[in-house]
Amino acid sequence: MKFVRYGRAGLEQPGLIDAQGRLRSLSAQVRDIDASVFGPTGQRALRQLDPEQLPLVPGRPRLGVPFVGISKFIAIGLNYRDHANEAHMAIPTSPIVFNKWTTCLSGPNDAVLRPPGTHKLDWEVELGVVIGREARFVREADALKHVAGYCLVNDVSERAYQLELGSQWGLGKGCDTFGPVGPWLVTRDAIADPQDIDLWLEVNGERMQTGNTRDMIFGVAYLVAYLSRYMTLRPGDLIATGTPPGVGMGRKPPRYLQPGDVVTLGSPQLGTQRQTIRSAPQRPV
Ligand code: ZN
Repeated sequence: MKFVRYGRAGLEQPGLIDAQGRLRSLSAQVRDIDASVFGPTGQRALRQLDPEQLPLVPGRPRLGVPFVGISKFIAIGLNYRDHANEAHMAIPTSPIVFNKWTTCLSGPNDAVLRPPGTHKLDWEVELGVVIGREARFVREADALKHVAGYCLVNDVSERAYQLELGSQWGLGKGCDTFGPVGPWLVTRDAIADPQDIDLWLEVNGERMQTGNTRDMIFGVAYLVAYLSRYMTLRPGDLIATGTPPGVGMGRKPPRYLQPGDVVTLGSPQLGTQRQTIRSAPQRPV
C-alpha cells in the first residue's frame, strides 16, 4: 500500500494511491495516517478494503508528510563509501548518527527556505525508514519486522551551519523546511528488498545523484538494530539512511542551491519530490 496525506498544511486528509496511481480518500475509514493505520494491525485491517471502492480525490491537491507521529527524525551520515570520499571524510566503522529536528518536516513538494545569510544550501536524496512496531534491543535478523515501510527523504543541509559551527551537525540539518518527506509511505510488503532501491536527484533538470541502496555501508536492518541499542524506536519514528554521492559540497567547484533553483528527486519504488528554493523571511515569529 501507498499511504498519502493531502490538503493544506496542517489540515491534511488521509488517503492512499491505488494500483492505477490515483489518489483515493481514506477519510471515512481512518482519522489520519498514524501508527494505528501503518502499524501491523492497521495494515492488516486496511488490506480487507478494496481501494476501487474508495472515493477518488479530484484535482492535484498539495501533499503533506505521508504519516504522522514522528517522535524522532534520525539520520545517518556518510553511509555510502563514495559519498564519504567526496566529503573528504573517513569511511565510518560504526554508523554516524545525528538528528533532524521534527520542526523541519515538510511536504514533498513544499518550497525549501534558505536561511537568511547562508550560502551553502545542499541536497541529499535518501531512503527513509518508518518504524511500525516499537523496537528496543532488537536483533538484526528481526529488525525489519519493526519497519512499517519506506519513504523518500531529502536531507536538506546547510553546510556552513553543519560543519563550521562546531563538531555537531544538527544546526545545519534541521532548519525549517529541511525535511521534505514523501510523497508516499510505501508499506514494507510492497518493497521486495530495501537494499535494492534506486535513488536519483536533479537540480534544474541536471542529474546530480544516481545511487542504489545496495551501496550502503550499514543496511536498513543493521541500522534499526543498532539504533535500538541506544534508544527506544517508536512507531512513526523516521530514519534517513544516508545519501549516495553527488551532493553539491562534493563538486569541483562546490555547487550550492540558490533561490529559484528547482530540486527534483525520486525513486521508482518511492515516488518523486519537487522543491523550489526560496529565501526564508527574515522576521521574528
Ligand atoms: Zn543525509
